[in-house]
Amino acid sequence: MTTAEKSARRFARETPLGRTRRARKIDRILTEVYPHARCELDFENPFQLLVATVLSAQTTDIRVNLVTPELFAAFPDSRALAAAPVEEVEQIIRSTGFYRAKARNIVALAQELVERFDGEVPDRMADLITLPGTGRKTAHVVLGNAFDQPGVTVDTHVSRLAQRFAFTGATDPVKIEHDIAALFPRRDLTMLSHRLIFHGRRICHARRPACGACPVAALCPSFGIGELDPDAARSLLKYEMAPGAAKQGQSPTEPGVQR
Ligand code: SF4
Repeated sequence: MTTAEKSARRFARETPLGRTRRARKIDRILTEVYPHARCELDFENPFQLLVATVLSAQTTDIRVNLVTPELFAAFPDSRALAAAPVEEVEQIIRSTGFYRAKARNIVALAQELVERFDGEVPDRMADLITLPGTGRKTAHVVLGNAFDQPGVTVDTHVSRLAQRFAFTGATDPVKIEHDIAALFPRRDLTMLSHRLIFHGRRICHARRPACGACPVAALCPSFGIGELDPDAARSLLKYEMAPGAAKQGQSPTEPGVQR
């Protein structure tokens, strides 16, 4: 039997209470490992965060952070962006990829904010998801980080880790969101999402997770699906955890993996 099969078998008969306890223990460890976990998009108000989150599709947060200062200097609020020439917006956000569609989306988004919400970003999920380019994931980013309304942001990292931790057996993002939310106090959900994303970016990678260097290995039903040799696993770590990163002065919050 492989290590991964043994790990899966260990947790196969876990009770719902056992799963909740294990999930919270995992989060306590991730809190210690990633004390700097946070939203990696730069923003000063809900409008900026909403636009930045829409721009972050299929690119890295760092790329978005490179273009938003110029974008918000030129178009500081929804009224300014609603009246912006799309070609001008395209030029500013070009390096984020899919820039034509994104430019169209954020200008249309700003127009809707002006027409339907008096220029303000609404603070309700039901309203946010009616805006162009805004699904539940984007809405939770905005609600959790700009309005202090905690929720689970189900991006590629969160859904992968929730499955590996056996927090869910679902593949549908809304079902995953509810399965995760059922395991934790509501107040923790936004920070939990950040910590899962940090862990997914640094250690529990999609293709080759660094199981042999993972701080939650003993609590993970998927332990063994990735690299088990401790030295080889350490060589897979990314950002501030990468071998030699401290010497090169890499920022603990440097985002380099696309959403
Ligand atoms: S790296 Fe391995 S042990 Fe750690 S969470 Fe991911 S699958 Fe589990």
